Amino acid sequence: MANRKFHPDDTVITLPGGQTIGDGSLTLIAGPCSVETEDQICEVASRVKASGAQFLRGGAFKPRTSPYSFQGLGTTGLDLLKEARAKTGLPIVTEIMSVAHLDLFRDVDIIQVGARNMQNFELLKQLGKMDKPILLKRGLANTLEEFLMSAEYIMSGGNERVILCERGIRTFETFTRNTLDISAVPILKKLSHLPVVIDPSHAAGIPWLVEPLSMAAIAAGADGLIIEVHNNPAKALSDGAQCLTPDQFDALAKKLNTAHQAL
Ligand code: PEP
Ligand code: MN
Repeated sequence: MANRKFHPDDTVITLPGGQTIGDGSLTLIAGPCSVETEDQICEVASRVKASGAQFLRGGAFKPRTSPYSFQGLGTTGLDLLKEARAKTGLPIVTEIMSVAHLDLFRDVDIIQVGARNMQNFELLKQLGKMDKPILLKRGLANTLEEFLMSAEYIMSGGNERVILCERGIRTFETFTRNTLDISAVPILKKLSHLPVVIDPSHAAGIPWLVEPLSMAAIAAGADGLIIEVHNNPAKALSDGAQCLTPDQFDALAKKLNTAHQAL
């Protein structure tokens, strides 16, 4: 169902608020790694909106490597995201970690499946029954074929609104957190009709690499970017080392929109 052979036209995802992904415009999804406080999420939301982001990201349930790291605010985090949405009008994108949480996500605009759950097939099957776009991230060490099969799990359940997200893969290189597989963009767009977005923040792990990787993503034909932004990166409870400040995001968004228009 994800295969372009049987579906030559690009899939365009439209949200009830009129936002689109995959229609040739550049989609910018921005926000903190984790929702931390009301002030934090509301401030970041209003700043990224002012810079032109169309969606707010923020994790409430966090897949942390260490069980002793901040695990996210859970349902409180979802409530704070909805509050930021009510204040700014930005639809929210947030990660689901478990089938046990499906009911909590019914009022989320786009449900994210994180890299670590790309092959949680039971979760994918359940998301296939939902009437909601799913932002599916590529696993840390998964092939594009496996990635597309995971999209297939969701689509075969009846939910055809899948957004593919390349977020860097594990390689021998240690300078960056992951290695952005830029070739994934044209390959996924050739093999499939689904929108493709790039997450340069988790690929790079370093703020100054976010801009060049974003530019490369646009040049390669990506439909959008999902970028981590925090109002106080030094104090962030997760991924502070890679997030941009709202000012940095503002400057970047201008450059990205200019570059996209010049294509
Ligand atoms: C995230 O988006 O904060 C995240 C945990 O991403 P990934 O699943 O790509 O590691
Ligand atoms: Mn993160």
